[in-house]
Amino acid sequence: MSLPVIAIVGRPNVGKSTLVNRIVGRREAIVEEQPGVTRDRKELETDWRGRRFLIVDTGGWMAAGDGLDAKVSEQAERAIKGADVVLFVTDATVGVTEDDDKVAAVLRRAKRPVLMVVNKVDSEHRETDAWDFARLGLGEPTAVSALHGRQVGDLLDAVFERLPPPGPEELPADDTLKVPSIAVVGRPNVGKSTLFNRLIGDDRSVVHDQPGTTRDSIDTVVETPDGPIRFIDTAGMRRKSKIVEGTEYYSLVRALQTVDRADAAMLVIDASEGVTHQDQRLAERIDVAGSPVLIVLNKYDLLGADARAEISEEVADRLAFLGYAPVLKISALTGKGVQRLLPAIQEAIEAYHRRVPTRELNEVVQAAQAQQPAPNARVLYATQGATDPPTFTLFTNRALPAPYLRYLERRIREHFGFGPTPLKLRVRSRTS
Ligand code: GDP
Ligand code: GDP
Repeated sequence: MSLPVIAIVGRPNVGKSTLVNRIVGRREAIVEEQPGVTRDRKELETDWRGRRFLIVDTGGWMAAGDGLDAKVSEQAERAIKGADVVLFVTDATVGVTEDDDKVAAVLRRAKRPVLMVVNKVDSEHRETDAWDFARLGLGEPTAVSALHGRQVGDLLDAVFERLPPPGPEELPADDTLKVPSIAVVGRPNVGKSTLFNRLIGDDRSVVHDQPGTTRDSIDTVVETPDGPIRFIDTAGMRRKSKIVEGTEYYSLVRALQTVDRADAAMLVIDASEGVTHQDQRLAERIDVAGSPVLIVLNKYDLLGADARAEISEEVADRLAFLGYAPVLKISALTGKGVQRLLPAIQEAIEAYHRRVPTRELNEVVQAAQAQQPAPNARVLYATQGATDPPTFTLFTNRALPAPYLRYLERRIREHFGFGPTPLKLRVRSRTS
């Protein structure tokens, strides 16, 4: 199967490897040293907006020394042969060099889409340094900072637009191919089995049992109008007459293991008993796992008006650290409210994998700051470094107070509709 190929060219030290690492990020790329081609040719597989592609880093092709001329063109020519898009990386702090001119000449002759990348533009004040590179005749320069991730998302958007249309053999990225998995967790007797059987008892659903990820466990895949969902470790929940659950402790341990393997968790709470200490412990553990969570208040049918007000307060109070999680009030017994669960899960998982446009992110952050500036500090630039969960890095002149971070998180969450998905914000400042 052939994936689109992105070749990275440029003279040494402009930041090619840094850029590749930035693009591939923490997405656990498959690193393949390709034997036979050249020792230094590195191919990394990654994906962007659901398309997979190979990045060919030509890092070590050009050694300093004699015969630079020949080597420059050889490097460029070999890299662009077969590449769908070429990223020509240069260094804003150095400016246009003779070697850049030579690479550019080769690239102009080649009939390949080229993106003119000017690296080391670490702040917007340095943006004008990039303009000079327009004279290399390879289109408008894209100013990035590979080191800080600045504008790298925009660059990838530009790459994405230049990729050839996907061939029939090109499979979707693993993220989209994978059936999202859900862990249903909660103390014994809160109504997990009743709820689960109600979910799969729906006429629309086609249900398959599949071997689970651990020995003895059985997962259940449910077809929904929005695609399949895998429920993890459902053996106990599917049986009509349940096996003895074992001790409360044992079932807790097992529940925690399912959380680690799942893309999202449903925390089922017996609303008639309130939020107990055990519920809190489970919630904390889910929070640590960092996956999206839905708080399901079951047995709502048993609650009178007073108890309903009380349970909402308890959730706000005892599960405050899951503040972003939606709270669904249901009765598994009567089926009331149950139909909202699967759409809510789908939405949570979608948001978990989402990547937002860098420009729009910065607009949101700037607008938030204009409306309510932080005391003595300023976010200069924001970037989304990763998904699963969406992780944002804020580059600031000083450390930001925690309440202000929460304010920015809320603004980002609201603007992009991240809903129940946990977000991570990291701050990089000169003084912290
Ligand atoms: P390569 O030889 O082209 O692969 O370059 P490297 O990725 O090894 O980077 C060369 C040097 O430039 C390293 O010291 C990097 O830390 C630095 N560098 C890379 N990108 C940036 C950037 O965006 N800004 C700054 N200030 N330095 C960078
Ligand atoms: P699990 O141990 O968490 O799987 O809990 P079960 O599904 O076995 O339910 C425990 C008990 O709670 C059973 O007697 C269920 O009939 C009852 N139950 C479950 N859901 C509800 C509900 O929404 N309302 C009421 N009143 N009872 C429920």
